Amino acid sequence: SMYLMNDRFVKNDEVSISIEDRGYYFGDGVYEVIRVYGGIMFTAEEHIGRMYESAEKIRMTLPYGPEEMLSKLTRLIEENAIREGHVYVQATRGSAPRVHQFPGEDITPVITAYTKSYPEVPVVPEPAKLKSVDDVRWLRCDIKSLNLLANVMAKQEAHEAGCLEALLHRDGTVTEGSSSNMFGVKDGVIYTHPVSNFILNGITRRVIMQCCEEIGQPVAEEPMSLEDVYSMDEFFMSSTTNGILPVSEIDGQKVGEGTPGPVTKRLMAAFEAKLPEPAPT
Ligand code: PLP
Repeated sequence: SMYLMNDRFVKNDEVSISIEDRGYYFGDGVYEVIRVYGGIMFTAEEHIGRMYESAEKIRMTLPYGPEEMLSKLTRLIEENAIREGHVYVQATRGSAPRVHQFPGEDITPVITAYTKSYPEVPVVPEPAKLKSVDDVRWLRCDIKSLNLLANVMAKQEAHEAGCLEALLHRDGTVTEGSSSNMFGVKDGVIYTHPVSNFILNGITRRVIMQCCEEIGQPVAEEPMSLEDVYSMDEFFMSSTTNGILPVSEIDGQKVGEGTPGPVTKRLMAAFEAKLPEPAPT
């Protein structure tokens, strides 16, 4: 399959990244994952927009703009004939001898992208189990940066406990997941952490907020405490790769009935109605 390298499309064995790439040294870069449904990228403009915002927040200027990025990623998906899958794109601050401060103006960011194909018959995921983990990340979680060590550690801790995802909390205040946003339902109201520097403003979260408005579902953008979550009626998480995923258990305690509840189900239906109509093959 083909890869995007800066402004070129190259074959697998033609990809070469410098050992001095700042992504490799420092995680000095940003990234996005965009889902492809029926050959069409979902919320591509939003993802690419967020990527350029993340780049700006770390004071990195990409060598071309969002429109060109969109057309390049579209072409990559076409070249690789992706129907169900995703495209991963990242940009690092470039390759230069290892000093922490930014390299000179002559050093340009390195952009790479690849596609991943999902099985043709979709695997319906089981409701997720969560493990609460201390959120020890930095204070700019709004940036989708390549620096994911704390997320990696949290996810591993969850996995070792037999859980799909970590439920991150700062001093008992639930923020989000290691690679997802988190939502609780109590007495018909959906609760989720407000958009701030403590969470990534998920694109799926944004679609969910839109769905809620459209179906008249009350939402409170108020953080939940870790104590609150155990007594929620329903709980679910959201991400580009999993969409809306119901949660059955948190720290070994069943949430509600342990099965997807009515609010979650209604929202999932509203979300699915927004997905691109697959073009005939
Ligand atoms: N929060 C974090 C920390 C993430 O890494 C992600 C995505 O991977 C999300 C939330 C969900 O964001 P999105 O819906 O844009 O995939």
